[in-house]
Amino acid sequence: MSKLTIITNPHPTLRKKAAEVSVSDIVSLKGLANDMIATMREAQGIGLAAPQVNQSIRLIVVNTKDGALILFNPKIKNKSFRKEEGEEGCLSIPGLYGLVKRHISITVEGYREDAHPVSIKARGLFARVLQHEIDHINGILFIDRTKKIMTGNNTDASENL
Ligand code: ZN
Repeated sequence: MSKLTIITNPHPTLRKKAAEVSVSDIVSLKGLANDMIATMREAQGIGLAAPQVNQSIRLIVVNTKDGALILFNPKIKNKSFRKEEGEEGCLSIPGLYGLVKRHISITVEGYREDAHPVSIKARGLFARVLQHEIDHINGILFIDRTKKIMTGNNTDASENL
């Protein structure tokens, strides 16, 4: 596995709508996904989207308590009416943090690295990270969704998405 370079705002790739991955291409992209996991961990993040490593495709990785999750073409299928506010930072926007309202629970469909479809129910921080990463593949950054941007060093690695 090799470490990739994380691009930072205002790199134009971060603002593109990323391309769908053909199901037949998924298996060949497992190496990229594993490199993204290594890069995310090295940067002490808990989520990373392919556009953040300058690959404009619909692929995200998320750290969970059961290990790293790889999802191709993730799509939110259900979301709770209720939202909650929480602090977020982004590996592509170093030094800035903000409070962002996210759905408390969501169901996400996509494909695993073996090209099998999955449906995942997530809530709390896991749901927040998935929403942040799915925003990335749509060219949306957390600074578009926060009313208050704060500066400073992060105190909690769980805020690096
Ligand atoms: Zn981010």
